[in-house]
Amino acid sequence: LNRRLAGMGTTIFAEMSALATTTGSINLGQGFPDTDGPREIAQAAADAVLAGRGNQYPPGPGIPELRTAIAEHQQRFYGLAYDPDTEVLVTAGATEAIAASLLALLEPGDEVIAFEPFYDSYAACIAMAGAVRVPLTLRAPSFRPDLDELRALITPRTRLLLLNTPHNPTGTVLTLDELTAVAELAVEHGLLVVTDEVYEHLVFAPSAHRPLASLPGMRERTVTISSAGKTFSFTGWKVGWVTATPELVAAVRTAKQYLTYVSAGPFQYAVAEALRLPDSYFAGFRTDLARKRDLLADGLRTAGFEVYEPQGTYFITTDIAPFGEKDAYAFCRALPERCGVVAIPNSVFYDDKEAGATQVRFTFCKQDHVLEEAVLRLGALR
Ligand code: PMP
Ligand code: GLN
Repeated sequence: LNRRLAGMGTTIFAEMSALATTTGSINLGQGFPDTDGPREIAQAAADAVLAGRGNQYPPGPGIPELRTAIAEHQQRFYGLAYDPDTEVLVTAGATEAIAASLLALLEPGDEVIAFEPFYDSYAACIAMAGAVRVPLTLRAPSFRPDLDELRALITPRTRLLLLNTPHNPTGTVLTLDELTAVAELAVEHGLLVVTDEVYEHLVFAPSAHRPLASLPGMRERTVTISSAGKTFSFTGWKVGWVTATPELVAAVRTAKQYLTYVSAGPFQYAVAEALRLPDSYFAGFRTDLARKRDLLADGLRTAGFEVYEPQGTYFITTDIAPFGEKDAYAFCRALPERCGVVAIPNSVFYDDKEAGATQVRFTFCKQDHVLEEAVLRLGALR
């Protein structure tokens, strides 16, 4: 393993999911639902396979039906107009979109500012691009970005802001004021922004998701990333996308060509249908998740955790300090033995080890009876 990837041997998600399997624990670690998405969308994927649609290499940028559906989605929910032919790119999940964007847009030595705790692939992809990550630390209990600190982190070498809203793992959803401040800094300093909005539809009232690209001066400098995995509960399909200007999409497409060349064909037909589901689907999904959030949050609080309420995503960040615990990673490794539950230590997503030392993340995208059983087990910790 080269020096760039030193210490990144196995992702925390793979490690903790393996631990859940070997110990037979309830897995509230890795974020994937235990119930698949809409039946008619699964049927659309099966139909595409059997009808021979997409079984051979689809077009590199993605099938036209899906690119059109993505453009229509951006218009329908945010009033953003993108040309499906030149301003949309289909990727192998948001993960490839992140990798291709960073590999395409960064020069070695460029600085990238990202909120920490960061999603684990950010650090790896910045490293693979030979660039330097510069964390802006989100601190408990509010996990709001300090915008003066952000301003102070910008140097002549800063090339790009890597944003994530709604934010994994803290559940922070940036407000319009915060987005405006970020946008003004990006314009003032001529920065590109790559914004990971995979949880765009997993936001709880009164919070609302607003794409950064919709702010003044941002459309031309923003690469927006999303994915079908979270919104439609098909994380295994790995269909993601990028929307941006023709120049930026062309750059990202260049990198994508040599990573996966194209993305899996039949699922693209199914996701095109999913993006056109009625508003009631998106609203129902959110309502259901909000209830699960409350179920898990209440249970964790009763069990003795300090709970930080998320405004979005399907994760809850907690603090284990009330148990007298000092090390989230050690806690998570021991948790399956102690009570048969798996969680994720946020500490691994921070460069500032102090800031995240006692934070532990739980997911609530599970059936109610699973969450109830997990809460019962966690109740035995004290
Ligand atoms: N970004 C964030 C913030 C995520 O939480 C995830 C989901 N693991 C991804 C990107 C990756 O999405 P995908 O599964 O579509 O590659
Ligand atoms: N995004 C999911 C999470 O944060 C997992 C993705 C992965 O395993 N890479 O839990």
